Amino acid sequence: MVPRVTNDDIWRKVNQLELTGARVSFHCASVPLTREIPPSAMLEPDTTATASVARDALASESSQPSPEAASTDVNGGQTTRLDYPLEAQPLVFNWRYAIPIAGLHVLAALAFFPYFFSWTGVVLAVFNLYFFNMLGITLCYHRLLTHQGFVVPKWLEHFFALCGVCCLEDTPARWVAIHRIHHKHSDEQPDPHSPLVNFFWGHVGWLVFEHREHRHVVFYEKYARDLLRDPFYFALERYLLWLWVYVGHAVLFYLGGMAAGWAMTGDVWQGVQFGLSVLVWGVFVRTVVGWHITWSVNSVAHVWGYRNYETRDQSTNNFVVALLAHGEGWHNNHHADQRSAAHGHKWWEIDPTWATIRLLEAVGLAKNVIRPKCMRKGVEN
Ligand SMILES: [Zn+2]
Ligand SMILES: [Zn+2]
Repeated sequence: MVPRVTNDDIWRKVNQLELTGARVSFHCASVPLTREIPPSAMLEPDTTATASVARDALASESSQPSPEAASTDVNGGQTTRLDYPLEAQPLVFNWRYAIPIAGLHVLAALAFFPYFFSWTGVVLAVFNLYFFNMLGITLCYHRLLTHQGFVVPKWLEHFFALCGVCCLEDTPARWVAIHRIHHKHSDEQPDPHSPLVNFFWGHVGWLVFEHREHRHVVFYEKYARDLLRDPFYFALERYLLWLWVYVGHAVLFYLGGMAAGWAMTGDVWQGVQFGLSVLVWGVFVRTVVGWHITWSVNSVAHVWGYRNYETRDQSTNNFVVALLAHGEGWHNNHHADQRSAAHGHKWWEIDPTWATIRLLEAVGLAKNVIRPKCMRKGVEN
């Protein structure tokens, strides 16, 4: 009989790297994960586990052709079709993602009703896109946690990660794991979200259809073990804590807006209306717009744009996506030089996330900041 391992057991075992083929079960991003771990998937004792994860994630970097400037248009190059990832076939609707994604779109559509409008809400939506999506997703989830392009004090890293959780783009461990496998197998099997399958799949289809591998604990252990060794990130995976963080920040925006509206007008119902406008624009609209901006990096920036580097994937630099996604649209640069904390490699490739990292570095909060290879070469020369 196979012994059942509790959540605490799995955490201890992830820490000690001593899984021995037991039946493991824990909750990750609300998905109950239960599977028999085959002997071939067992973790080998590895005293440099964190480094090994980073090596795994960045393995494709070393296999990239020489990143010499080529400025070719990917649309003029070869186009390849890709089948759905094997683990997603046959296509089965993933209701746990499809319902919240559809639901948030409906809630964001309330912005079309005048009752839910206020200029304060609109300004908050724009500000929050910068605050939550840039600090939480592009700076923290992507350049800090996934690629380790720099380090900040743990308290600040955790704060940024909470900003990312408030974007409802999955937990840090899940986001990081999926993005690392994207880099390892970009635009080939088993890339989770290549637009070479079709544009819809690369944009959002990969989220609303089941991907069996993404439900397995082994997947997280392989690609995000370094994060799960941190009790903070592990706790976010459990008891739907990530969801409560999102709901909690939405409630705070509503209550703050309602209190301000009530105080300004002296009328409680006007306070309610003002609070709802802050909630709809500052949270719902911002969440949905933030989703499409992030998804555009996966879809648009693998289809349309120019290329500075001849990478093996179809990544492109797309000016519009770069502007909207705080510099993430310089995606071909990023695929060619994944560890770099800067994605804009030319002076006119504007990169607000990099500017923010430079600011953090200037005040002593960001250290070991990795510059682009082209800049590093310049320094060496
Ligand atoms: Zn990346
Ligand atoms: Zn990509």
